[in-house]
Amino acid sequence: MKQLTSRLPHVGTTIFSRMSALAAQYGAVNLGQGFPDFACDPKLVDMVTVAMREGFNQYPTGVGALELRQAIAEKIARIYGHRYDVNTEITVTPGATEALTTAILCSVHPGDEVIVIEPAYDSYLPAIELAGGVPVLVQMEVAKHGGFSVPWSRVEAAITQSTRMIIINTPHNPTGSVLRASDLAALVEIVRDTDILILSDEVYEHMVYDGERHESMCRYPELAERSFIVSSFGKTYHVTGWKVGYVAAPAALTTEFRKVHQYNVFSVNTPMQHGIASYMQDPVPYAALPAFYQRKRDLFRKGLANSRFELLPADGTYFQCVRYDRISNQTEAEFAEWLTAEIKVAAIPVSAFYRDGKDSGIVRFCFAKKDETLALALERLARV
Ligand code: PMP
Ligand code: GLN
Repeated sequence: MKQLTSRLPHVGTTIFSRMSALAAQYGAVNLGQGFPDFACDPKLVDMVTVAMREGFNQYPTGVGALELRQAIAEKIARIYGHRYDVNTEITVTPGATEALTTAILCSVHPGDEVIVIEPAYDSYLPAIELAGGVPVLVQMEVAKHGGFSVPWSRVEAAITQSTRMIIINTPHNPTGSVLRASDLAALVEIVRDTDILILSDEVYEHMVYDGERHESMCRYPELAERSFIVSSFGKTYHVTGWKVGYVAAPAALTTEFRKVHQYNVFSVNTPMQHGIASYMQDPVPYAALPAFYQRKRDLFRKGLANSRFELLPADGTYFQCVRYDRISNQTEAEFAEWLTAEIKVAAIPVSAFYRDGKDSGIVRFCFAKKDETLALALERLARV
């Protein structure tokens, strides 16, 4: 068989798929890949079922069902105070992943530089590579007994004439850190008087804890005017397998986004869009999310406080990072595999989010799980 010359020679199977397979192989509690193990609201399923029965089963418009775009625009306006135009600025996508890749493909030309802050979600670098772009990596700082933060002076120093885009992710996977108003103020200063675009991955927008607010790019006019903002209903409504998300961006950016999107997927499945649009009429499900997940976070952290793991701050997302240097001097990948095989709790090595595999002795657990799943995992982790 003739071999293809790979467009992505450095890429294998994702860490999430690998750790989930390992968890299944060893019968481990899967706190690796980020997805809930509990059911979504049955009302949401009913609304999708009604949409199917009512005949919403053919191609929707490529940009997304009007009702859903309207509901998204309303939600963004209500929470963040920025009103996107339903017709020209919001596009429904098959999950956040396609939105991220398409935003990169439509705006990054060969040789353009894209600043990526590491640790970084795994889909960013391959998308930049496919576009022919050049990733410029800036690593977050990690305090010895604290959490991760973005060194804005290093981001600024990484900017050149060729910088086309900065990718932001808040709340942040895998670290669980969130950007604050002071971070966004720094970003505003960095991009002022430049043509730099921002791709803002905000899929965990409704998972910010301790009464803090999510700092969406669209709260800040100087950032909104240059940002693609991406979110995902998979995270917000506990339906990661439905793969429905969206991108909000100014009309000029959306026009180019849609040119690529229409040939990537053309459209997103119809009944889910109508069902989600009906469900969004009630703000309670997403408004209640911080309290829902904060309780799980606190339960998980309290349990881990009785173990030899050292907890990092977890201000947002449904991830908890821990140091394990009191337990082992294995690499993160070795430790995550050992934990899965021997302790029967799967985790994700944070090194998988660095291109150079930087190893800080930290693994990530997902706490989007039933209380009994967390209890079983905690019982096992306490024995380590
Ligand atoms: N961005 C981040 C930071 C994520 O954690 C994920 C996955 N959960 C995605 C994007 C992809 O979202 P989706 O499943 O909607 O494609
Ligand atoms: N975003 C999820 C995580 O970080 C995984 C999604 C995937 O498997 N691609 O765990």
